[in-house]
Amino acid sequence: MTPTPHGSSTELADRLGAHARVCQVVSSSQLSSSVREVVLSGDAVLLAGVPGNDVMVRVANAAGKFVRRRYSVRALEPELDQLTLWITTGHDGPGSEWARSAQPGDSVDVIGPRGKIVLDPDADWHVFVGDATGLAAFYRMAQSIEVPGRAIFIVEIDHADDAITAAFDEGLGVTGIFVDRHDRERNDPAGLLSGLAAFAFPPDAGHAYLFGEFHVMKAVRAALLDRGLGEVEASLKAFWRTGRGNADHGEPDKSDD
Ligand SMILES: Cc1cc2nc3c(=O)[nH]c(=O)nc-3n(C[C@H](O)[C@H](O)[C@H](O)COP(=O)(O)OP(=O)(O)OC[C@H]3O[C@@H](n4cnc5c(N)ncnc54)[C@H](O)[C@@H]3O)c2cc1C
Repeated sequence: MTPTPHGSSTELADRLGAHARVCQVVSSSQLSSSVREVVLSGDAVLLAGVPGNDVMVRVANAAGKFVRRRYSVRALEPELDQLTLWITTGHDGPGSEWARSAQPGDSVDVIGPRGKIVLDPDADWHVFVGDATGLAAFYRMAQSIEVPGRAIFIVEIDHADDAITAAFDEGLGVTGIFVDRHDRERNDPAGLLSGLAAFAFPPDAGHAYLFGEFHVMKAVRAALLDRGLGEVEASLKAFWRTGRGNADHGEPDKSDD
């Protein structure tokens, strides 16, 4: 018998115009010091949407209350009915705890597809800027770029082994800049701003995708606009916020204080 998601998952999915399903954990393994790969099965094609989309998983917090956490889909394997998530585990929170302890065969409510930022089909080059939380979306989006095209990644990492790479079509021009955080605070944009300063915009049409920490992403967007990128060409999504857990529905606090 097909398992049924919790009533709250079905209601939320209906409101969001998405789908709620119960998925099974296929595997959970550490890819690097900060990133864990979790593979889920169950209506994967329906949930995974298009490159740039994410899913919401329903996880218990330390008090036993269920909250939702959002994770971009890294990869979809339709023939196996599987989707892959890359989840950062270098901090303590219900999402990272779930990823660390997930065992093959575990069930989890998943709502998808979510997210509005997708690849700009008119751009000749695409620059992806953020931290390890953005890698899954960055790589899935870049793997969908039609050749010839260019993908530039500027990603701040906490540990050398978090510089995880991916394979791309031969005709794609790929540049990767990994910036070591050293002992900078997690809301300090200095590292990514210096990585960005080292990158000369190619002459033709470009699009920037900014996925990472709230304050850092705001500062990066301002720097890109200062350098002449149009507002529409700089797509920002704050994934998390230093010192504050994401809300129960999975979004970071976006207030100005
Ligand atoms: C649309 C969307 C897509 C996302 N995709 C991904 C993804 O593919 N992979 C991924 O790893 N994350 C992704 N995130 C971010 C992820 O949902 C949040 O980081 C989430 O807050 C983690 O939940 P948690 O329960 O582990 O920690 P929370 O309860 O949210 O936070 C607990 C504490 O940990 C800190 N914290 C939270 N996240 C981080 C972090 N990454 N690094 C350092 N400190 C942190 C918080 O500031 C807080 O102090 C996405 C977020 C959104 C909105």
